[in-house]
Amino acid sequence: MTELRELLSYAATRVADYRDAVADRPVFPKDVDLMAVRAGLGVLPDGPTPGATVLEVLADAVEPALVGTVGPRYFGFVVGGALDAATAAEVLTIGWDQVAFNAVTSPGAAAVEDVAGAWLKELFGLPISASFGFVTGGQAANTVALAAARHDVLARASWDVEQRGLTGAPRVRVVANAERHATIDRALRLLGLGAGALEPVATDSEGRIDVVDLARVLTGGPEGPMIVCLQAGNVNTGAFDDLRSATATAHDHGAWVHVDGAFGLWAAASPTKRHLVDGIQTADSWATDGHKWLNVPYDCGYVFCSHPKAHAAAMSLSAAYLTGHGQDGPRAPGDHVLESSRRARGFATWAALRQLGRSGVAELVERCCTLARRFADQLAAFDGVTVVNEVVLNQVLVCFGDDEETERVIEAVQRSGVCWMGATTWRAMRLMRISVSNWRTTENDVDRSVRAIKAAISASNLR
Ligand SMILES: *Cc1c(COP(=O)(O)O)cnc(C)c1O
Repeated sequence: MTELRELLSYAATRVADYRDAVADRPVFPKDVDLMAVRAGLGVLPDGPTPGATVLEVLADAVEPALVGTVGPRYFGFVVGGALDAATAAEVLTIGWDQVAFNAVTSPGAAAVEDVAGAWLKELFGLPISASFGFVTGGQAANTVALAAARHDVLARASWDVEQRGLTGAPRVRVVANAERHATIDRALRLLGLGAGALEPVATDSEGRIDVVDLARVLTGGPEGPMIVCLQAGNVNTGAFDDLRSATATAHDHGAWVHVDGAFGLWAAASPTKRHLVDGIQTADSWATDGHKWLNVPYDCGYVFCSHPKAHAAAMSLSAAYLTGHGQDGPRAPGDHVLESSRRARGFATWAALRQLGRSGVAELVERCCTLARRFADQLAAFDGVTVVNEVVLNQVLVCFGDDEETERVIEAVQRSGVCWMGATTWRAMRLMRISVSNWRTTENDVDRSVRAIKAAISASNLR
């Protein structure tokens, strides 16, 4: 074998071994010693090291400090795992090392993005004519969408923001669900709109936007350039804004409507959950992640825009040497995202969609929701334990009596190594936040995790 073949085989075997064993090791590594990991990596050597040694040293040093997110009992944040075919496709992507800027830098990468992007629009029920970009994640998707929004609302006020910037521009009002994700605020900072300028709209008991209050806020300020940010999938409760009526209300005021559906947009891919995103197609832009619920490896997100010209005007990159630029020719991936040189993210997405098929995506979404319900039902049956949200999707928020007790139970569960779930503060309550978003999770994994939680409660009561 050549050295390359040996290295790739070694890496593939190491990854397969890790993924095979991950369900049996502590989900969060026990006694992680960061100093030992650093020591294992050594000092910058004076000369070269054989590739085989490099890989072995890296894997040996790092594996003890890895978190079992690809395993079936990681319920932290909204992380998702990585499907086998998508993982292997990512290996091809790295090996092919394509620059996915446009059809000149890689016809293959451009074609696959075209196909995968069209498949995603079909799954979500978005307009066929919508433009799209394969980005690094929800943050980038929200930023690109809001850049397109900024272009459009200012162009309608006869202001070319790409040329003139924001100095002296008409004021852009940004109105959003008070419980939006923090990446919306960061996008507003980056785009010069200012997080402080955001006008929050009241929410109901589940964090859904109050459409009456939305109308009040919109009417309460000057008419003019306006952007409204809605949410499909509240990051704590999983709740959905009433997209149809909120969008109609915002459109009555001439606002651009952006929907952050980092994980919740996937409800659109399931016939039994699609009602949650009713009216989704009436918005102007959408953001979602591949690396969360589709279980594509990190990092991968998608932005869609029903105004392709605004999308391209905000993002396109023109330089004389960049031929194949997309004006008349094929779609240029690089004209829809923040980066110029970038990895070909379409390959892993295409592989995930091809492996699952339409029914497989729906089944993945529905299974996670059913398992979240299973968590909620079993936990709510324990004395002193309350599930505080309506479990409409894959998110479960649990209170174990009071903040201190909840904190204690969460820490004990995390230490147990059986499963891992994070903590959140929502409505001034400290809560365990469970997110079921991994393709490998089964009923048995939920039951084992519930037993670990039960043990943590008992241990806490015995103190
Ligand atoms: C995770 C998340 C984001 C950010 O996505 P990244 O992929 O982490 O950048 C934005 N909005 C919501 C609702 C999310 O859950």
